[in-house]
Amino acid sequence: MLHTDKLASTHELFAQELQKEFSAALMTVPNRKLTCLILDGEPALNAYSKILEVPSLRCDFHIYAQISRKISREKLKQQKAFIFGELKEGIWKNGILGSFDALEFDTKLEKIHGKIEDVIYNWIKLNRKMLIESSIVSAKLKAGHIVQYGTNNVLESLNAKLKIFIGKARSLIELIEKLSSFCEEELTGIFRAAGGFPDQVKLTNFNDNLTGSDLKQLFDKFYFPCSEVLSWKLPKKLLFESCVYDLARCYSKAQILQVSLVRDFLYIVENTQLAEIEPERFATVRILNEKLNCSLCDNTVWFCQHILRVLMSLPDVERSLRLQQLSKPNNNILTTRPNTGKK
Ligand SMILES: [Zn+2]
Repeated sequence: MLHTDKLASTHELFAQELQKEFSAALMTVPNRKLTCLILDGEPALNAYSKILEVPSLRCDFHIYAQISRKISREKLKQQKAFIFGELKEGIWKNGILGSFDALEFDTKLEKIHGKIEDVIYNWIKLNRKMLIESSIVSAKLKAGHIVQYGTNNVLESLNAKLKIFIGKARSLIELIEKLSSFCEEELTGIFRAAGGFPDQVKLTNFNDNLTGSDLKQLFDKFYFPCSEVLSWKLPKKLLFESCVYDLARCYSKAQILQVSLVRDFLYIVENTQLAEIEPERFATVRILNEKLNCSLCDNTVWFCQHILRVLMSLPDVERSLRLQQLSKPNNNILTTRPNTGKK
């Protein structure tokens, strides 16, 4: 998070804006809502929990890091099981954070008294209320967090990356431009990972053996804007040449088009929302020099809404062949543009 100061009032103001954005975004996605927030323990951040009306949990990694700063690494190795639990001879033994209620928490705390360093015992005692409200098992279950440990480490890493990218205090215009290029860079990384060429991003549950429909299902779960195109397993060259925003824009336009005529290697793509006399109502997509070529659009990039619509209509094997052909370098043969007749 980038902030001008760490005052609770600043966070409150931002949380109110965030709530407006979340409400608008969640309205378009049925059955989705925020479950809980994982916070690092900074008290001013509680504004988000209050205003967004979601329970907050404490990041387990932050607790671990806080404890690790108080004792030596050797001691931590011996004593962390008292707090976080451990697997012993195939049986999971809960630590104090594995307690289900305050009574169990207090009983466990007394049991480990003398076994753990005083500095840790005192820290747990001092933070008893916070740990019971936002760290133990029942707090997590109540908040809808069904895995044993929760960390906001991924966000923290992204946060650190963002701070390096922004670099210094900037004017509002500069900040917006920087944020926009940061998001573009991140989205491009995700896009390439989804296309099977991960650079810095790795997608959970992604593997190269997934079929096209499995991939589409996976990408739909992530709300990728052009999940169908990504599920085609684009050749690397096409993937790296594509601007994800342009592709998503063309893909959404392609959804309303119809392939109204197919003849040998020629397709007539129609936009029935345009009047019959509109010249852009019909586009001819045909194969020239082995590549799909559109009569209406500038073919400097490999796709346009009409080419995407044709690709969507093809059987898997044929689509794959067309994509491979599109990824080949141009062979510089002069071609006749079907709409202009110019050479
Ligand atoms: Zn086109």
